[in-house]
Parts: sequence; C-alpha cells; structure tokens
Amino acid sequence: MASKSKKMDRADQVAAWRLCMGCGACKWACPNAAISLKNIVDTGIRPIIDENKCEQCSKCVEICPGIKLEHGHFPEDIDQALKQSWGPISALYEGYAGDEEIRFSGSSGGIATALALYAVEQAGYSGVLHIKADPDNPLQNIPTFSTCRDELEQTTGSRYAPASPCQAFEHIKQASGPCMFIGKPCDVAALRKAQKMDPKLDSNVGLAVSIFCAGTPSTAGTLAVLKAMGVEDESEVKSFNYRGNGWPGMAKAQLLHSDKTFELTYAETWGGILSKYGQLRCRLCPDPTGEFADISCGDPWHREVTPGEKGLSLVLVRTPQGMEYLLRAIETGFASLEDAGSEVLPKSQKSVLQRRRQLRGRLLIMKLFCIPVPGYKGFNLKNNWKQLTIKEKNKAILSTIKRILMRRWYKPLTIS
Ligand SMILES: Cc1cc2nc3c(=O)[nH]c(=O)nc-3n(C[C@H](O)[C@H](O)[C@H](O)COP(=O)(O)OP(=O)(O)OC[C@H]3O[C@@H](n4cnc5c(N)ncnc54)[C@H](O)[C@@H]3O)c2cc1C
Repeated sequence: MASKSKKMDRADQVAAWRLCMGCGACKWACPNAAISLKNIVDTGIRPIIDENKCEQCSKCVEICPGIKLEHGHFPEDIDQALKQSWGPISALYEGYAGDEEIRFSGSSGGIATALALYAVEQAGYSGVLHIKADPDNPLQNIPTFSTCRDELEQTTGSRYAPASPCQAFEHIKQASGPCMFIGKPCDVAALRKAQKMDPKLDSNVGLAVSIFCAGTPSTAGTLAVLKAMGVEDESEVKSFNYRGNGWPGMAKAQLLHSDKTFELTYAETWGGILSKYGQLRCRLCPDPTGEFADISCGDPWHREVTPGEKGLSLVLVRTPQGMEYLLRAIETGFASLEDAGSEVLPKSQKSVLQRRRQLRGRLLIMKLFCIPVPGYKGFNLKNNWKQLTIKEKNKAILSTIKRILMRRWYKPLTIS
C-alpha cells in the first residue's frame, strides 16, 4: 500500500492504522507532534492523530514498517539456501550469555542482553534503546535507554504484549557515542527506515539486534493469561513476567497484597492463550526473524528442552558489522557461542516458516476483497508459496476467506 500523492490522505491513514504493529516510529517521525500512542486493550498500540496539528506531510506513513517493507540487494557471502525464507544470514550460532545471571533471567540464552552488556561495559557504547515493563503498570511496556548493568537487568525476558521502542529513537539521536537498539523485527525495520530519513540518528546506530517474533498479542491476551492463572483483579498485579528465569521459564504474576505467586507454563501461556490474540499485521508478517538487523536471536526449538535445562539462544549473523561485533563479544567472554548447522533454523521455527509460505496466497485473496495489504519487496513470496502442496495452498486460501468473513475485514475501517 503506497501513497499515490506525496501527501498523506485519509485512506493512507486508515490503512496505516489497520496495518500498524505499534512500533511507535510514526510518533518519533512526526515533525508537528501530532501523534500520540494509545494502547487499545483488544487491538494493540495505535497512533492517534491530532488533526489540528497534522500538516499531512506523510512522514508517519513513510516510516511505517507495517505499510511497506523492502529489501535491497543481498551480499554474495550469505547462506544461499537460507536466503529465500530467512533473509541474509552469514553465520548461525547456538549459545548463551557468558554471565550466568543474565543467562538465567534471559528469555532464551540471554544473548540479547549479553550483547548489550558488552556494548556498555567494553565497546564504548553510550547506551541501549529497548523496552521493559512499566514499573507503574507492569502489564504495559515502556521504552528505556539502558547505560549500565543494573539497568539492563531490568529488561531481560520477552514481553508478549504491545511495545513501542521506536517512539524513543531520540535517545539514540541525542547520544554522544554509538548506541545499540534491541527490538522486534518490525521495530528494527522501522529503525532502518528512520536511519535513511535522519543522518544524525544513522551515525549513532552502532548495532541493531532483533529478537525473533511470531506476533505481538494485544493486552487482552495478557489479561486472559492472568485470568487463567487465577488472578481476579489485574490492578493488584505488582510484577508480571511472561517467561525467563529458566528456559523457557514460567509466566509469573505477583500481587501487591498477597504472598502467593501465580504461574502458568510457557506452553499454556503462549500456545494456549497469547498466540490467539495476535494482531492482523503480525499474521501477515514476512519477517519473523529480524532480517534488517545486524544480529538476530531466538529460541533453538529444534529439539525437546529437558526440564531444568539452562537457557540457549539461536543466533543469526546478518551483516559484517554484526559478525565483527559478535566475535569480539565471544573473545571477551560476554557470549559463549558455537557454530550451528543451517538446518537448525527451519527446524526451530516451523510455524513462522509455514506462515511465510502461505503469505502470497493470503495477500492475493485479501486484495481480491479490496482490503489494504502491506507492500513487500525482496521476500521471495512467490518461491515460498511454491513450496506448499496443493492441499496446503487450498487450506491457506480457504482459511483466509473464512477469517475475512468472520472478522469482517472487508468492511471499511473507520477511525475516530
Ligand atoms: C512478541 C514476541 C514474540 C516472539 N516470538 C518468537 C518466536 O516465534 N520464535 C522464537 O524463537 N522467539 C520468539 N520470541 C523471542 C524470544 O522469546 C526471545 O526474546 C529471544 O530468543 C531473545 O532471547 P534472549 O534470551 O537473547 O533475550 P534477553 O536477553 O532476555 O533480552 C530480551 C530483549 O528483548 C527485548 N524485548 C522483550 N520483549 C519485547 C517486545 N515485546 N518488543 C520489543 N523488544 C522486546 C527486551 O527489551 C530485551 O532487550 C518472541 C518474543 C516476543 C516478545
């Protein structure tokens, strides 16, 4: 979906709202402070535009990774077999944070935080822009700029709820030295667009790290998890972790006026509840593994995790900067990593691979129903579609039609 004229029109705004993933980059890019972000419980974080301040410059639409994602040419020295479904990858590793505490509290093997720790303690970085639970409302996330170990410790673990780190790009822009950014694939894609728009921001981005992401559930998903745990009053929640403190670790809620800890397993939380609360654009995402990042990390789910096993991360190196940085982090003991075979990636991430293969068919059907869809370039959707059997193709088409009718996506969306 591209803007026909240079100026943003109402159709662009509405399409952007529907295809939004809540990264918050539009708020940062707006030159007139016309955008505020609102976390809508059933929907996710969405931009609210103050029409009186908006001068229709279209910067918010230009930066939005929900509307358009484009790859340039890939370098030659990448894994040629993986590039069709996973983007540019020059090396794969499996391993964990050198620091035992970070490995334990991290979501997988704590590698994202280990790379951040190396940035602030050894590599001379000014800080790390990412997200953490809001101390005033642990069911919401806020952007944070971490500059030391104590601050990084508050950010470990995956937060399966809306988060908009990109609204705070200004931290990177104003920093006196290089900075790291950690976010979901859409957040990193927005960062890359922002870097093209702003040379000062561009010069301060030292490294972009992406976590894998199969989709952000709305806050309604978190509320459903609390209900399943037996928490009756969500305003009583003092702290809430989705996983971590073990691999994959339990979802845990603690309350203000009770000593009891409420828990659910990762399988009950993600597979049983949260995955049903995904946002529309996340279901249409071609990039679950952070193809625009220098380094991306996720879970090596290619084998059963035994109870009590220590955390492990699957690490993909995507750029020469990423390779250089990772090797230095390994040399200095911040990360402990070993080569992994390229077969572990598709084995670890089966469901997102299937989604990428289905995408071309799904988008075509949505277009037939005149529903705005994102514009993608360089994701090899045609070749991925060809990997499906006839039965799988039919299933993808029929389930898309069913969703369009049941969820009334064919109806024009109105935003107030
Ligand atoms: C919504 C969501 C979906 C995911 N889907 C998958 C998947 O399909 N497959 C898979 O292998 N892994 C998935 N993960 C990633 C995985 O859970 C781990 O986050 C990843 O392996 C990194 O682990 P780590 O131990 O290196 O990270 P840690 O060292 O624990 O650091 C985590 C970092 O991620 C940041 N972060 C956490 N939540 C968010 C968020 N919502 N938005 C932006 N930044 C965030 C934190 O600020 C922190 O810097 C998902 C994570 C999320 C949040």
